[in-house]
Amino acid sequence: MTEYNWCHGTHCHEIETQSRIRGSGDNKVLRTIKIKAYQGKSMFGNGGGNIWDYFCNHRCLMDFVSKHTQAIINIAPRREPKETPIKVEKEKYQSQRYQYDSNGGGYVPYQSTRTTIKTKNNS
Ligand SMILES: [Zn+2]
Repeated sequence: MTEYNWCHGTHCHEIETQSRIRGSGDNKVLRTIKIKAYQGKSMFGNGGGNIWDYFCNHRCLMDFVSKHTQAIINIAPRREPKETPIKVEKEKYQSQRYQYDSNGGGYVPYQSTRTTIKTKNNS
């Protein structure tokens, strides 16, 4: 079963591309893009609805999000920050950088610090 959705972008029908032209003669229009649903081109995995079944591109998605930001936020408002327990490890190591001089230059060693963040669940 093939299902289609009209792109939900608020300005989709105003974007000037040949793919949006419909009609003939003096009755031509720019029409909202028709999207073939369930194509599996998800950026969020395959669980549940696929955002790209409803928007033809990032611009249309962001036009929709911008227009309906408050309504979207109201679905799952965040009133407190979330936190992930971590361990921060600092490790000194020998590195080198290029230093220019009158002969062109060369690499010189220096002490550098590498900072690694490890989540407590995975370490
Ligand atoms: Zn669109």
